[in-house]
Order: sequence, then structure tokens, then C-alpha cells
Amino acid sequence: MTIPDIIIAIDGYSSTGKSSFAKLVASGFGFLYLDSGALYRGVTLFAQRMGLIGEDNVVSDALETALEGLDLHFSAEGKTCIGEDCVESEIRSMKVSSQVSPIAAVPYVRAFVDRKLHELASSGRVVMDGRDIGTTVFPNAQIKVFMTASLEVRARRRYDEMVAKGETPDLEQVAANLQERDYIDSHRSTSPLKQAADAFVLDNSQMSMGEELAWLRGVVQGKFGIYD
Ligand code: C5P
Repeated sequence: MTIPDIIIAIDGYSSTGKSSFAKLVASGFGFLYLDSGALYRGVTLFAQRMGLIGEDNVVSDALETALEGLDLHFSAEGKTCIGEDCVESEIRSMKVSSQVSPIAAVPYVRAFVDRKLHELASSGRVVMDGRDIGTTVFPNAQIKVFMTASLEVRARRRYDEMVAKGETPDLEQVAANLQERDYIDSHRSTSPLKQAADAFVLDNSQMSMGEELAWLRGVVQGKFGIYD
């Protein structure tokens, strides 16, 4: 099946498997994959290292100026880097997870990440995952997917991922972090997480990755009338 040069926006709740799905779509369709959450996580790690996050997750105004000097990018292998430093595993730590949503609610942080995403996606054939890609960052994306799954399934997936990395998480704490992030993400005033009116909903609580990809192929075929 020949896929046209389109942007695919995948949004949804935390740990619904958005990035695994988006990576699979990217390799299946020959698209570039962009992980917007990794950029928010990178900014959070940077702010933590600079000591710019105070009590109750209040962010110092100095972060806005500091961002001008932040070289946050993806390496050729798709790893998140700050300058020469590859921070891919550090940005997935509980320490970053516990502060990323308040940082992502700051309007100038969102503007910083949106600018990067637009630069990186300028040539099309991109699949991006996040919380506001189909609603705010690329409202004209030709295909929008909104992913959801039960909290139990999501917490278990995240827990298993952390265990596989040698961490010793607490399942209840993992579930609480997901709920907290979903709450903050859905209730912030700038670009809250919400389903775009023209998004296709994918509840993958009971689906395999292969079934998810087949579902998306069906969506693309239906939308563009491709039958080869
Ligand atoms: O996707 P991931 O869970 O890695 O994203 C980390 C956090 O970054 C989310 O909980 C959310 O607060 C924020 N985020 C966002 N908008 C996006 C992507 C991520 O606010 N487009």
C-alpha cells in the first residue's frame, strides 16, 4: 500500500502505548517518528539540573531565558540528547516523570517544544505522539488518532517497562503518577489534552501491536481510498 506524504498525529493518555505504536507506524510506513513527550522530559531534566524547579514544582522565571541556550535534539538513532549528552534513559526516570507535567503546563515551554516539532516535521511523512499534536501543534494533520486504555492495563505496562530496565517500582505509585499526569494534562489552560473532533479513537486495552497497525492501515485506506 502506498502511503501519501501525510502527518499522523497520535495523542492520548499516559502509557497507552503511543510511542511504541508510533514507532511501529514509522517503520511500517517509512515515516520519521517524533516523540514530543521526550522533548518535555528533556526540558524538565534540564530545569532540574539547573536547579530551576522549586517547592511545589514552581518553575523559576529564569527557565525562559535559559531555554535560549538549550540544545535539545534527537540523535541520528532517535535518542534524546542535551548537547553531547545522551539523556534517553534519564528522562524516563520517576524523578523526571514526577515533574514533567507541571513543566509542560508552562506556556513558554510549550512554545519552545512546538517550535522544535515544526522544524523537525517540515518535510512531512512524520508520525508524532503527544497530548496536543492533533489539536494544537498540527491541527491540519491528515490522520489523528486518540489512544486510550484502562488504567490497570496502562499502569501494568509502565511497571513492566521499568522492571525490564532494572528498576524496582511500586505498582500503586506508578498508577498514581499516571492518574496525576493525566489530570494535570487534561486540566491545564494551555493546550490541554483532549480528543480532537476529527480523531479516530483507539482503545488498545485488549489489542496486540499487530492489530493496532492493521487498524491504522484500515483507517488510512478508508480516508484516502487506497485499495492496493
Ligand atoms: O509522552 P510522555 O508520557 O513521555 O510525556 C511526558 C509528559 O509530557 C506528559 O505527561 C505531558 O505532561 C507532557 N506532554 C505534553 N504534551 C505533549 C507531549 C507530552 O504536555 N504533546
